[in-house]
Amino acid sequence: MGADLERVLITEDEIHAKLAELAEEIAAEYAGKDVLLVGVLKGAVMVMADLMRALPMTVPVDWMAVSSYGSGTKSSGVVRILKDLDADISGKHVLIVEDIVDSGLTLSWIRANLESRNPASVEIVTLLRKPEAAKVEVDVRWVGFDIPNEFVVGYGLDYAEQYRGLRQVGTLAPHVYS
Ligand code: 5GP
Repeated sequence: MGADLERVLITEDEIHAKLAELAEEIAAEYAGKDVLLVGVLKGAVMVMADLMRALPMTVPVDWMAVSSYGSGTKSSGVVRILKDLDADISGKHVLIVEDIVDSGLTLSWIRANLESRNPASVEIVTLLRKPEAAKVEVDVRWVGFDIPNEFVVGYGLDYAEQYRGLRQVGTLAPHVYS
């Protein structure tokens, strides 16, 4: 499946080194606090798996699934909860773990939704951020990499449900789309 990539933007080693850095900062921030990691399915599975293993402490994890993209490559702006959290987050420090922030629409919506449940705090960590995200008011506390405005796959990110298993992040060759 690597042959379908046009260009590798971020290698597996770069991802792991960055997550180790972020884990250190996150661990310091939440030391002694009741923290819950909330992953956004499905894209965040790889970030969550590697980030939680990079953390020096044990933390509970929960998942939400929302729909924002169909099988295309542009944001629909429509957010719908497909799977809600199992846990009650009131009084907890919630850290949303995301794969990518593009328009930020999805994340703003998720954040507002979680904030309405009386948590102690809500912060966001994302592996990737696109330039569009800078234009909207979405306060992302930790960002792994700022990437150009291109559609990327790999490391949890899909194109029509494919390529999530790639170990690196890259752009797809044009032949894949046609
Ligand atoms: P936003 O609402 O920030 O525009 O979009 C967020 C969601 O869109 C992400 O969680 C992700 O599922 C999807 N998305 C945004 N950009 C990309 C991209 O470059 N590649 C893939 N595969 N998904 C993307």
